[in-house]
This record gives sequence, structure tokens and C-alpha cells, in this order.
Amino acid sequence: MLAEIKGINEECGVFGIWGHEKAAELTYYGLHSMQHRGQEGAGVVVSDGNQLKAHKGLGLVNDVFKNADFSALSGNVAVGHVRYSTQGGKVLENVQPLLFRSQTESIALAHNGNIMNAYKLRGELEEEGSILQTSSDTEVLAHLIKRSGNKITEETIAKALNQVVGAYAYLILKENKMFVALDPTGIRPLSIGRLGEAYVVASETCAFDQIGATFEREVLPGELITISKEGMTSTRFAMREQRKMCAMEYVYLSRPDSDVNHVNVHASRKNMGKELAKESNVSADIVVGVPDSSISAAIGYAEESGLPYEMGIIKNRYVGRTFIQPSQELREQGVKLKLSPVRSIIEGQRVIMIDDSIVRGTTSKRIVQMLKDAGAKEVHVRIASPSIKNPCYYGIDMSTRDELIAANHTLEEISEIIGADSIAYLSEEGLEKAILKDKTIHQGICTACMTGKYPVKEEGAKEIAYTSC
Ligand code: SF4
Repeated sequence: MLAEIKGINEECGVFGIWGHEKAAELTYYGLHSMQHRGQEGAGVVVSDGNQLKAHKGLGLVNDVFKNADFSALSGNVAVGHVRYSTQGGKVLENVQPLLFRSQTESIALAHNGNIMNAYKLRGELEEEGSILQTSSDTEVLAHLIKRSGNKITEETIAKALNQVVGAYAYLILKENKMFVALDPTGIRPLSIGRLGEAYVVASETCAFDQIGATFEREVLPGELITISKEGMTSTRFAMREQRKMCAMEYVYLSRPDSDVNHVNVHASRKNMGKELAKESNVSADIVVGVPDSSISAAIGYAEESGLPYEMGIIKNRYVGRTFIQPSQELREQGVKLKLSPVRSIIEGQRVIMIDDSIVRGTTSKRIVQMLKDAGAKEVHVRIASPSIKNPCYYGIDMSTRDELIAANHTLEEISEIIGADSIAYLSEEGLEKAILKDKTIHQGICTACMTGKYPVKEEGAKEIAYTSC
């Protein structure tokens, strides 16, 4: 399904590289491969060992870097960021990495996730005299680090991280060191790779493939890694029993060629389709996936059910970026532009339509109608994840609870609303089975938006974060 019309929005991707003379350019390529994680702004901060230099802007990675003078971004260390902003956050000042200069040492931060107690911390900082320049929760961490000690060290960063609650993958850069931190529950993905002698860090492993780097390992929950000319060292600033990787990274958010916590995203989606077919097969003629993120699940469903998989819906890749259009009406028009039925395949067929998830249901309704208009005899909707009934507090901007169709309607009502002949979702057990093949390594997933089982709680946290990323 299409991020911009579904109502789920990815909340940023981070990339860092240490020890390569083309650090800024490689960051550009790395960010480009993670464009799906955020299309509203991008940036890089480079260090030449003495000073930090930034280049950032609003728009797609290509737009932001089109006129970049890479010779002015010399240095063999860089951190970069692609951003999707929550409401009210679409301004240049919030585009990351955020860079703060001081007389002693400067600091740049790139963040994926959401600090749940940012509002409270911000209030405390302001009461104590801090003046914050952005509405980003990332700036809060910068202040906490600076207040934790004179110098930016593992200790001051660990002290600051222990004051924040939420889901986060952080890259923190000062002139001569890079720090990499993951939240204690490991909700957001973050991996380490190598490119020759250089260290590479990225939200998704597809960024390693893009630049010819090799995957080395996952960053562990509660781990703080320091990279400097002495090499890489690791410490834990917090310990939790179980990792809770965001299940939506597998369902929908990450690229199919990425491996998230040792599991390939395409393979997990295919498994979801297989489990779905086992749980709720129905008599039909063909299986069709909604492009792009539902194709893998549709292939799995077809394989398991023995029905033919057909390319019954085509996505037009050259349509403008409809996601920037704010109104529901315009978003719905975007579906018509982006998706087309293949009439000769659909006509007269009983179709199983596989989608990865349903948020509001408005898009599903239009796709079902589109298939029926193209002559489908029946349309049976099968969703390759459990229904979304709860808000996410961990950095994924979903619709509010009022807008979530499954939070407010029964299965029968949803089927009727979207005009399907039948509908079924994958069970929670089916989802876990599809993703967690080896629990000793993978240690669990967050399914809070589907099950309401929140792995991290914070009183007063808001559904839509305070300009998180
Ligand atoms: S609540 Fe849902 S979207 Fe948010 S981290 Fe958990 S699984 Fe991911």
C-alpha cells in the first residue's frame, strides 16, 4: 500500500559513516536508499576532525542534494537523516541532523523514533532557563547531554539517555567521535556495517547494499557505541529482558530487501501471506496484491493456497508526490492516479485482494470499488497483519484512534464499509509465527498498535508525538 494515502507514516531514517574520504557523498546514497522512511526533508552533517559542516533542506533527498557542493562538505565522518515530520513540524529548522555549536565542542544529532516524555522534559528545561530553537524532541536530548557534564562523553550521553523514555535510534556526532545509541527495548531498527576500513550505521540494511558495505551486526537494545580513530567500543546504558522490534517494520515500513533484526522483510511478508492463507482461505480464482508492500504477502498467500498470483493492480511510479496533499479528498484522488486495475486479468474473476494493513479504510474501499468496476465477480479482502486499533507512541505517525476503522467497527461492518464480499485479518499468533522464527535471536516484537500491549509506557504520552522523528 502507499504510505502517503494509507495513514501510516514512517518516522525517519538515519545513516552514519566513519572513516571514508567520500563520507558526505556516501551518506547521500545511503539516505537515497531510505527515502521511503521520510520524504519531507533530508540532511547531512560532516566532520573533518576540527569542525562540523551541515547541508540540509526540505524535500526529497535528490532535491536537497541537487545543488550540494560536496567539495565544501569534506571530511571522513558524516551523519545523515531523512525525515517524515508529524503535524506542524514541516519546517527547515526541524530538519535533521540538528547541529548545535558551542565554544568548546559542537554536536549533531540524527534521530529515528519518539521521546514520549519530551513535552515534560522540555517544560523542565524551559523552566530552568533553556531556550529551545526547534519543536523537535531531538533537541531535548541535545540539551540533556550538555547539562549532564562539561564534555560530550559516553557518560554524559548515557546520563541523558537514561532521562528519556520512548523508542529511539540516535546518531550523535562531535568533531572527533560518533556515538550510536538504541533505546532499551530496541523498538526501532539500527545496524552496523563495514565498507573496507570504514564503519557504517543505518536504520535499514538496504543502505549497506546501496553503497557496497557489508552487514556486521545489529545495534543491541540499550547499547551505546562509540566510534573514533581508536576504533569501535561498546557499552550498555540500560538493560531490558526482551527486545520488542516494531512489527510494522516487517508488515509495511521497511524495504523488502532489508533485513530487520536478522529477518529479511520480503521473506517475513511472504510468511505472513502463507499464515493468512492457512487461517482464512476462501474459494476464489486469483490472488492480487496491492502494490508495492503487499506483493510479497500476496505471493506467499498464492503459494500456500495453490491459487495463481496475478498482477491485477498496477502502480504508476511516475505520479507526483500526492502525499503532500493534506486533505482527505485529495488523498483519495491520489489513489486513482497511483493504482490501476488490469481489466483483462480481473474481469469475471473471484479475486482475493491482499493488503498489508488497513488504517482508515477509505483507500481499501476505493481499491475494492476499482476492482469491481474492472469486472471482478467477487472481492475478498485479506489483510496480512492483525487489525490496527491503537495509536503508536513510538515514532510511527498513524491516524488518531477516532480514524482507525478497526477501533470503531466490527469485522462485518468493515467488510460492508469497504464493499468487500468478505474480509479477514492475520491473527496475532500468525504474525508472530511469520516473523519470529528464532526467538532466541529475535526476542520479540512490538504489536501494540494491533494488540494494545505497549512495551514502554509513559503517562501523558500523546498519540501523535510532539514533533517526533
Ligand atoms: S505500536 Fe505499532 S507501529 Fe508503533 S512501534 Fe509498535 S508495532 Fe510499530
